[in-house]
Amino acid sequence: MTHSAPLHVPPHADMRAVVQVIGVASALGAPGDGPAAGPAALERHGLLQRLKGTGIGASWQETLEPVTTPPAGALMRERLDAVGALAQRVADHLTALAPEVFPLVIGGDHAVGIGTWRGVASRIAPRGALGLIWIDAHLDSHTERSTHSGNIHGMPLAALLGEGDAALSGVAGPRLDPANVVIIGARAWEHEEHERLTRLGVQVFDMAEVRERGMGAVFCDALSVVRERTAGFGVSIDLDALDAAAFPAVTCPETEGIAPDELCAALLALRGCGDFVAMEIVEYLPDRDPGGMCADWVANIACAALGPSTYLLRAKEREFGAHNYAPLPVVFHHGKGIWLWDVEGRRYLDMMSAYSAVSFGHANPRLLHALNDQAQRLALTSRAYSNDRLPLLMERLCGLLGYDRMLPVNTGLEAVETALKTARKWGYKVKGIPTDKAEIIACEGNFHGRSITIVGMSSEEQYRDGFGPFPAGFRRIRYGDADALEAAITPDTAAFLVEPVQGEGGILVPQAGYLARCAEICRRHNVLLIADEVQTGLGRTGRLLGCDHEGVHPDGLILGKALGGGLLPVSAFLADAAVMDVLRPGDHGSTFGGNPLGAAVALEVLAILEETRPWEHAARLGERLMARFRDAHLPCVREVRGRGLLVGIELDPAQLRATTAAELLLARGIATKDTHNTVLRFAPPLVITEAELDAAADVVIDTLAAACAHRGQAPLQP
Ligand code: PMP
Repeated sequence: MTHSAPLHVPPHADMRAVVQVIGVASALGAPGDGPAAGPAALERHGLLQRLKGTGIGASWQETLEPVTTPPAGALMRERLDAVGALAQRVADHLTALAPEVFPLVIGGDHAVGIGTWRGVASRIAPRGALGLIWIDAHLDSHTERSTHSGNIHGMPLAALLGEGDAALSGVAGPRLDPANVVIIGARAWEHEEHERLTRLGVQVFDMAEVRERGMGAVFCDALSVVRERTAGFGVSIDLDALDAAAFPAVTCPETEGIAPDELCAALLALRGCGDFVAMEIVEYLPDRDPGGMCADWVANIACAALGPSTYLLRAKEREFGAHNYAPLPVVFHHGKGIWLWDVEGRRYLDMMSAYSAVSFGHANPRLLHALNDQAQRLALTSRAYSNDRLPLLMERLCGLLGYDRMLPVNTGLEAVETALKTARKWGYKVKGIPTDKAEIIACEGNFHGRSITIVGMSSEEQYRDGFGPFPAGFRRIRYGDADALEAAITPDTAAFLVEPVQGEGGILVPQAGYLARCAEICRRHNVLLIADEVQTGLGRTGRLLGCDHEGVHPDGLILGKALGGGLLPVSAFLADAAVMDVLRPGDHGSTFGGNPLGAAVALEVLAILEETRPWEHAARLGERLMARFRDAHLPCVREVRGRGLLVGIELDPAQLRATTAAELLLARGIATKDTHNTVLRFAPPLVITEAELDAAADVVIDTLAAACAHRGQAPLQP
């Protein structure tokens, strides 16, 4: 296959790959000429680049301008005719676009909408009627007879519905059926327009309703109205629907409107709508946006609505990505706290926390602040030099965990590799193991990462298959068996590497006393005990470290995941000087390891840890979650186990496969993942509340109960 081969996805999924922006630089309907400058200002500010950056194939097709502009103070007749003539040109222009083009009309004042929606209605007329969602602070349903202000941008909806002067209502193209039109966000209107809409039967979700029910819920209802009897629908956004404090750059600012981020989140639902046929954004006033903040929001709004769908993104990932993962069928777009939203705006409770890396929640404000602040100042120097963050992190991490030294790297596997190298060198230089004879003992079922050395230690056939030969010097013993450790140690043993709870291995918790006995055995044989706390560390298991449950202070400690606050890869190996000082300059390092950006985030992670002590909460909630799962007595559940907020449900694969269960839960808004096809993992951000956890437990129990009851019937579809 050549690199230019087209995506093998059906045309409907690819529809918005051909967005064409049509500017309409008109202020004919507005009291001042501000909005006429909107399209050019948005173009200059990079609207097109933003669309392209989101994966939208977009081009700026043309910017239309009025041919005649009546002088200030011109008669209504003259102004109506000028607006009508421009609207007709816009309508004709849209009608002439190729059928596969998705038009994005950028106004101009909202009178532009008469042309946009008559044109779009004409485009789809052979297939059926057009639906329209009109998001606006106003009702825009005056006619030249009822208007109070005399501004024509208060009339487009009435004209589209066929009311008022023929210069506007007579623009070529089908009239909108009021039953297919919905207004959202209105909060300033005159009684004549309200009366008109009531008479016609247009549904209005006013701002009070948006505030009460949320923009997302209202938008969903609006979608069901405008899609029910139509062949396609459009969305017209007057930017004054947004709250004027957050978005002042409009002709008629109104307070107490929709928050821009809530609008964007709601618009994501459009990505999954194959019958979404056109969009319009109007009334942007560059004069009131000197810093470009509102122009950024316009781009966000367009990208939210027009960005690629789950289907398309998954198709691209399959086509262009290596197939080394089999992700669950969801594409996430943004996250906040314990919640994740997919590209179509559906919300999920994150019970995975990126394998425990997002312990402090998505977009944690303190961590984001630390990240942004440091990113503006200094992000990367390499360790050819020192930076002013890393020494502070070293001091604080060593102080918190009781070690002399720390060595920063990035990912978990790098920290494991660092520990292995250090242990070997200690074995030769301090313990006196003969050259190239050092041995490291690991456990069956371990997971320490996926480098060649590390998968060489694995007992998992798939991790090893096809990747040998592996480095010598490693042996494996049964996990949870301290006698096996004692038996495996030889004079050449440098270290024993162990996870306090095996996470990837299936949330396996060893018997009480295991780690303490291992520590005692290692001490007696002068073998380093190295704990891989990449997943269990920093509060996850209900103590600061997994080893703390048994009062064990390992000789070497490996941290990762949560240390980077879910924002960056930050990992570390910690040990006392007697071990760490075997390393000399040049022995080990990494370009990104210890970078000031990661160090600043990790410092804030430690501050949050010390201030909030989340492990106490994790311990209590973990017990509660496990009790809920056990008390449900689900027939397909073999065992519930875990420590703190690292919990696994082992399923009976003959009744329900864990992969199927994860898909069923995903369909119900719970993001989890199986390990080893038999165990479902639950590791929410540690900031989850008891009520949120209880609600999630209800859904999990309900879903698993239904799936178990279904046994023997047709396969369950998520
Ligand atoms: N050690 C443990 C215990 C882990 O759970 C993991 C990742 N799941 C790793 C090491 C490897 O970390 P990374 O993916 O960041 O390399």
